[in-house]
Amino acid sequence: MGEEANTITHNTIYIDGQPVTFEAGQTIMDAAFSAGVYIPHLCHRPGLTPHGSCKLCVVDIGSRGVSFHNSDRRVQTKFSVDIDGRSVSACTTPAVAGQQISNNTPALNEVRKTITQMLFIEGNHICPSCEKSGDCTLQAMAYHLGMLDGHFPQFFPRREVDASHPTVMLDRDRCILCELCVRASREVDGKNVFAIAGRGITAHLIVNSSSGKLVDSDLETNDMAAHICPVGAILIKEHGYEVPIGRRTFDLHQVGEIGLEKVILANGHGKYVTPDDETRHARFPLPNPLPQAGEGANESLREFHVNVRHTDE
Ligand code: SF4
Ligand code: SF4
Repeated sequence: MGEEANTITHNTIYIDGQPVTFEAGQTIMDAAFSAGVYIPHLCHRPGLTPHGSCKLCVVDIGSRGVSFHNSDRRVQTKFSVDIDGRSVSACTTPAVAGQQISNNTPALNEVRKTITQMLFIEGNHICPSCEKSGDCTLQAMAYHLGMLDGHFPQFFPRREVDASHPTVMLDRDRCILCELCVRASREVDGKNVFAIAGRGITAHLIVNSSSGKLVDSDLETNDMAAHICPVGAILIKEHGYEVPIGRRTFDLHQVGEIGLEKVILANGHGKYVTPDDETRHARFPLPNPLPQAGEGANESLREFHVNVRHTDE
């Protein structure tokens, strides 16, 4: 730990020894995100209520600094509390001055890899035939953590596909129960289209409608809930493969790029955050400028992508 880490200030935590300032009310994840420090996660999106369900953002908290008042002046004192091994979800744990947080360590990344493997084997993930491949955060996380196989026996669960909606497809085979669609529908769209029912191995995503089908729900194409799924469980129909395999977000970027997450937040969720409706189906617009390889081809690709957006109107 660097010398600066021994100086407790009222708004600083230390992630892998790096000082990170935070504002009152922020979580460890919030502070890390603002500082450009990547903590792996799947079920978290800034702006939505933290959920803490995927546990990919597990971090270890070591000693903690605590500030308090004495009789007539504010005194800041560091308490070294021996809570080594206390693991918490960064997205739901408040930042507290002086926290010493371990994040990017081999042991924690091994735990995250095991969690990711369990997410794969409890669903039906056939990446080569999935439209989300290359844009999928679960898949990208597996690459990021060096996952080579599922390790555990496959569950091969029988899960229902709902293709009843005219523009939105729900394939529960790929659902990781992150509840992003649940929260987006409730907190952003002002609806209550999705929920999780059941417990443990029987937990599954349900649709709040008279028939239980999407077609009878309030879901609309431009709802944030229709675009926020980090995997290929909720897809917009008739827009498959608009961005070719090999040119998708995670074909070009690592999942841990902080700038990338801001791009996703700015452009990836349809009407909710896009500057105009033209881009509402472009989940991940191509980076601009495009990568160096094959400038001519890139220009064509850019035109193709723009045309797709315009014909979408
Ligand atoms: Fe693969 Fe992601 Fe599709 Fe699952 S949702 S099959 S991990 S690309
Ligand atoms: Fe999460 Fe997608 Fe499943 Fe909704 S459908 S809970 S967004 S994985």
